Amino acid sequence: MTSTISNPLALIAELTHRCPLHCVYCSNPLELQSRSNELSTEIWSRVFREAAEFGVLQADFTGGEPLARPDIVDLVRAARAAGLYVNLITSGLPLDETKLAALVEAGLDHIQLSFQGAREDTANEISGTKSHGQKLRVLAWLKQHRVALTLNFVIHRRNLDQLTEMAALADSSSATRIEFAHVQYYGWAFANRENLLPTREQLDQSMAVIKREQQRLEGQVSQAVHGWLGPQTDAHHSQRRGASLPRSKSDTSFVVRKCLRPQSSPDLGTLRRVPEIPRRGLDAGTLQNL
Ligand code: SF4
Repeated sequence: MTSTISNPLALIAELTHRCPLHCVYCSNPLELQSRSNELSTEIWSRVFREAAEFGVLQADFTGGEPLARPDIVDLVRAARAAGLYVNLITSGLPLDETKLAALVEAGLDHIQLSFQGAREDTANEISGTKSHGQKLRVLAWLKQHRVALTLNFVIHRRNLDQLTEMAALADSSSATRIEFAHVQYYGWAFANRENLLPTREQLDQSMAVIKREQQRLEGQVSQAVHGWLGPQTDAHHSQRRGASLPRSKSDTSFVVRKCLRPQSSPDLGTLRRVPEIPRRGLDAGTLQNL
């Protein structure tokens, strides 16, 4: 009896550990790799070609903050030239209108823009930077571009009461997809888990809100396109072989990842105010030197 293992469909390209933000739940390893240890443009370009030959369809650029790479436009172009659907997972910093246009021109198919909350004060506190205003600017710029957009809200004890506002923010943007992703408890999130885990009551309430928002937005879904991204899109995308990301504003879907912990856990009993949370050791003021 023989068995086969299918080829992977996506390549997670962790381009760098550098990032201008200081999120308290960052999944970066506690021991960060330095810039000098990052793979070069040439090596990544070869990786993209080889991945495509193995049948990979999609490249997810992540980090750290992939925009910290000065060669990010070249990397997008290289992945696209290899025939991959290119997804940029980003905080939106550092980005300006010119760089965004260059990324789209190079072949960027999809952006996943992460938010630390719907309210500026909370979001800035969680990220350790004044980043929320920049993310709202990026949302405005994205309306001018034909690129799929997912808004990713990282949720936890400190912002679970903002779900309705998060959905409204996504609804008013050109987002094609909303993702409520609970903190994944490793890296810095594991170190801060006692202050990030929701209470059982919060968890139950949040699931009710998400269900309600899901139903509210369902009426806007005229079609769900998962899989083939056919020639009905535009010339820019017509050569693609397929991917699992949506294409249009009308294709709004939800992804909810629940974090469940045994009810017997003593940590879920009460909602406690977070005292001091250890921050990452990066200096947010050195953005231009990244
Ligand atoms: S945006 Fe936040 S979670 Fe993402 S890499 Fe930067 S510090 Fe980590």
